[in-house]
Amino acid sequence: MGARGQCPACGYAYDTHTCVSDAGAKGPAPGDYSMCMKCGVALEFGAEGQLVEIPDQALPPDALGMIVLARRYLRRRRIEMN
Ligand SMILES: [Zn+2]
Repeated sequence: MGARGQCPACGYAYDTHTCVSDAGAKGPAPGDYSMCMKCGVALEFGAEGQLVEIPDQALPPDALGMIVLARRYLRRRRIEMN
């Protein structure tokens, strides 16, 4: 899905996103959670579609669980690429 923006934590410029819980989703809605695939910070879509950094402690357990798994994947991928 097309989207353009920047991670508020690391500045990574993204041009797409993928919904892991609904492959047919048309796009993010305000309040949806996300994660930066560069730095791994947890993010939330704001009312205007902008990404806002959100502390792990503020995430519901199911969203935190998915983000923890995704961070493990990112670490493993970085190790394999080096
Ligand atoms: Zn980032």
